[in-house]
Amino acid sequence: LLGCGVVGGGLVKLLAKHRPDFRTNGFDLQLSHVAVRDPDKDRGIDLSNVEVTTDPMAVANDPAIDMLVEVMGGNDIAVEAGCAALTRGIPLVSANKSALARSMGRYVEAAKQGGAGICFESAAAAHIPIIEVLDRSLACEELTLIKGVINGSTNYILTFMERAGCEYEEALKDAAAKGFTEADPTLDAAEKLTLLAFKAFGAYVPPAQVHTEGVTRISQVDIRLALELNHRIKLVAAARRGEDGISLRVHPALVHRGELLADVDSEFNAIILEGPGFKEMTFLGKGAGELPTASAVLNDIVKMIRQPGTSTLPGFKRASGQAELADTSALKLCYFLRLQVDPARANDMLTALGGLGLDVLSHAQVEHDDANYLGVITDVIEESRMMSALTELGKMEGVGQTPVFLRLDKDNYRDIVEREQSTYFGTSLER
Ligand code: NDP
Repeated sequence: LLGCGVVGGGLVKLLAKHRPDFRTNGFDLQLSHVAVRDPDKDRGIDLSNVEVTTDPMAVANDPAIDMLVEVMGGNDIAVEAGCAALTRGIPLVSANKSALARSMGRYVEAAKQGGAGICFESAAAAHIPIIEVLDRSLACEELTLIKGVINGSTNYILTFMERAGCEYEEALKDAAAKGFTEADPTLDAAEKLTLLAFKAFGAYVPPAQVHTEGVTRISQVDIRLALELNHRIKLVAAARRGEDGISLRVHPALVHRGELLADVDSEFNAIILEGPGFKEMTFLGKGAGELPTASAVLNDIVKMIRQPGTSTLPGFKRASGQAELADTSALKLCYFLRLQVDPARANDMLTALGGLGLDVLSHAQVEHDDANYLGVITDVIEESRMMSALTELGKMEGVGQTPVFLRLDKDNYRDIVEREQSTYFGTSLER
């Protein structure tokens, strides 16, 4: 076992708890070595029959081990140790999303060389068994989209901003005080998306090539306008496969409150799959934490033992091979715009938006800090056209502050509004 912190410590507890279950199923698991940084730290767990070391490479290369579990984090030594074990035929279970997402090629090569398997269920969304689903249950399914709310700290911050009515900085302070902050939450989501897209589309897109935007620019007025428009703001990670290739993006998005993603709070993650054969499928579960993550690691270990040939890498390969990255400037979505305008000029502004080619589907206004803000949701438009319209809007008389835009999570907001309208009022939306 490399690492005995939150996840590793949880795993040690679960190994002891489930020992009778292992024996009932005809096998046993013995923790032989643990690598940590500080061997003297009191971890509140029993490591009396375990060799505790500070050298992960010594564990990975020890001829006595039958399996390596890496829950240490980091990149350099974690990759070296994991690949060293694999190369000599030792299977690897890893929760280390960062190392896997950045060094996928090295892991695949080492696994091939040593003929050993790798499982990493806990790395993508902790306790949601999405890797197993993509790898086996839906191995030959045609998927067009995999998206989700998969980062805990941004989810906490956005929820806090909404509930406390505060700005980003205050919510960040609260998250830090509770230990919910991460060095780079957007990168965390990008790394998980890399793993999910690899399984969903068989395409390896390193995290550095994922388009990322964080939540730091989200303001209280955006949150209030979104709520007025029946949406919540979430950091959404989405990998799409279209005719022109695949695109991986992580950015804040307005999610309609009728969608399950809108209600995913705290440490929960949700992942949604779309495909022409089955339309939509949703997974919801705990995306972090000691026992949810350790439990996913343990299930991978048990899977490896019960089916020794099991491997998540490379998994079910597609004959079509590696897909190209799509040109995202041609991406078409619905957009949310926030404009600071005088209330008396709001109607003129809506007319002006139409003149710029933006079809407004719904709009709302809020007063905030002695200023009036207009929020609008547009119909589907190419992102490049939206950017030029924003530049024009910024120059217009009566528009204070630079206009701000956010994407919607869906490109069929018009359908949603029409469905709502006809459900409640029996008429189609008047455009
Ligand atoms: P922690 O920081 O709690 O634990 C890391 C452990 O690794 C510690 O025991 C630390 O030793 C040890 N360690 C770190 N670097 C070295 C090194 N160079 N040599 C030897 N030992 C080392 O991390 P977590 O348990 O939270 O996370 C572990 C992994 O699981 C990460 O890759 C993370 O991304 C992933 N993960 C975590 C989730 C969570 O909810 N926590 C969810 C999903 C995945 P020491 O204790 O002495 O400092």
